[in-house]
Amino acid sequence: MKSSKGVTVISLGCSKNLVDSEQLLHQFRRIGYEIRHDERPRRGDVVVINTCGFIQDAKQESIETILQYCEARRKGQIARLYVMGCLSQRYLEELKLEIPEVDAFYGKFNWQDILRDLGREYLEAEHHCRVLTTPSHYAYIKIAEGCNRHCSFCAIPLITGPYQSRPIEDIKQEIVELVAAGVKEFQILAQDLSYYGKDLYHEFKLAQLIEEISDIKGVEWIRLHYAYPYLFPYDILPVIRERANVCLYLDMALQHCSDHILQLMRRHITGNETVELINRIRREVPGIHLRTTLMVGHPGETDADFEQLKSFVKEMRFERMGAFAYSAEEGTYSGDHYKDDVPQNVKQARLDELMAIQQEISEELSQAKVGQRLRVIIDREEEDYYVGRTEFDSPEVDPEVFVGKERPLGIGAFYDVQIDEASTFDLFGHTV
Ligand code: SF4
Repeated sequence: MKSSKGVTVISLGCSKNLVDSEQLLHQFRRIGYEIRHDERPRRGDVVVINTCGFIQDAKQESIETILQYCEARRKGQIARLYVMGCLSQRYLEELKLEIPEVDAFYGKFNWQDILRDLGREYLEAEHHCRVLTTPSHYAYIKIAEGCNRHCSFCAIPLITGPYQSRPIEDIKQEIVELVAAGVKEFQILAQDLSYYGKDLYHEFKLAQLIEEISDIKGVEWIRLHYAYPYLFPYDILPVIRERANVCLYLDMALQHCSDHILQLMRRHITGNETVELINRIRREVPGIHLRTTLMVGHPGETDADFEQLKSFVKEMRFERMGAFAYSAEEGTYSGDHYKDDVPQNVKQARLDELMAIQQEISEELSQAKVGQRLRVIIDREEEDYYVGRTEFDSPEVDPEVFVGKERPLGIGAFYDVQIDEASTFDLFGHTV
């Protein structure tokens, strides 16, 4: 039934949220709604805002986006306005009171009820089917929801609840269907990849899961995100090393390296254990590219702690690194028990200093790739270049490869590229 009714889903926050949004879009398409990819709803449309509630900035962005569409709802320009995701999971009652223009608020785990509010049924049998909003050759795969770690600064467990692994067969079915739809590259996600399987199978099963995904015909690249350092599943290392379609890449947030701060953060690991872990990963998987995330300005962080963090970054030479400043989140152990005693300007200065150190390292590492021949997947075409990524680059967060237009290239296709030049982060080359 072709109808003029359309749906716009605004997906804020992380790629785990994006997966929920894509699953919701599939359900809407199945009941005859047109997907509006341009975020400009038309009269009579439904708008759904999938919110993020992780830290202050993200909460602010979610609120502003909701208020922006409240205007359209008040004027009757849209038929329905729904809010779902982490912000409404965390502040449901407050939001209902403060923003009555919203037709209904849903959390992270009951957004399926939006269909019921429209008098339709959620198609449970198609729970993993999605309308991809990423380029059609790659997709995010969420293997679990929730987190059992309780890092003192983090609000995520308050929002998502305890760890819930998806069954291996359910994940594989989703991937088989996405391969059939043309997807070649899979970004494997969870709040905490390392814990996968422990709740469901009573043992860590990440290595087995990735091996089974790697065996699926048509899976070209598998990239791992959000590993956790404590009780790291070392059996994943030979899988990364030996499987050609598992990228030499691992994203693992480490947050800090000083014992004093790691203890305050309740990370269950010491600075030395962290260094040993990194060295062992590099030893067992030659050529692996490590992405990490660090935090500056956690309550109690002294100049000495920060000096240690700077030396750590210089020594570990991460191929990819992000950093952010601590923000006190109510309900977290740090937010409720520690004074936010590092002044904002000191936080910012530390952040800038850390990123300046990393920029130098990135410069050296990308220069070292000049002259290499690398396999590149093409994501898009621009005026002067095709733009793609190597196995060492995750979409949206990592550097890109700009490939000359000597000949026409296919979006989503792989090419061998000779690297001719490098900027601080990105590479430039030509196909061979
Ligand atoms: S592992 Fe990640 S999601 Fe879980 S509590 Fe720690 S920082 Fe938050």
